[in-house]
Amino acid sequence: MDPNMQNMMSSYLKIKKLVEDEEERERAVKVKFVESQLKRKKLSLGEGGSGSGGVGVAAPPPCCLVESCQADLRGCKKYHQRHRVCEVHAKAPVVLVDGFRQRFCQQCSRFHEVSEFDQTKRSCRRRLAGHNERRRKSWLESQKDGTRRRLKENQFRHLNQGSPGNQEFDIH
Ligand SMILES: [Zn+2]
Ligand SMILES: [Zn+2]
Repeated sequence: MDPNMQNMMSSYLKIKKLVEDEEERERAVKVKFVESQLKRKKLSLGEGGSGSGGVGVAAPPPCCLVESCQADLRGCKKYHQRHRVCEVHAKAPVVLVDGFRQRFCQQCSRFHEVSEFDQTKRSCRRRLAGHNERRRKSWLESQKDGTRRRLKENQFRHLNQGSPGNQEFDIH
């Protein structure tokens, strides 16, 4: 072979090797880039998943139902968060909710129109009435029980003193 040609061949091969190396490096970089992109995507997916799994995507951020109230309930008690009322408005005698003058009922844990309350009471009349009703019922129940017991005692006495014993005696 021509030494010149050989020289050229070797330099060609060298260049080819260099180019291949370059390509190889590029490929490696590309792969790394893609990998890092995938990782980032996975990470963001993971973050999104855990976030939506805990609170729920559809759930609105906890805020007071009272109109014009901007209170952030995230720092408030669970009770206030659940019923969506800030501490101040849970105790307010009258607030505007859905365009109505309302008050937060401590018994129902929700807003009623002010007309459902007696004066400054924090429990609606219906609940208070229900409470009294239950008390009256339980009193009546105890009365009925007492009456029934007395009736039973009377029947028992009657059985003991009455004719059934005599009838039985007659049969024998
Ligand atoms: Zn409020
Ligand atoms: Zn109520």
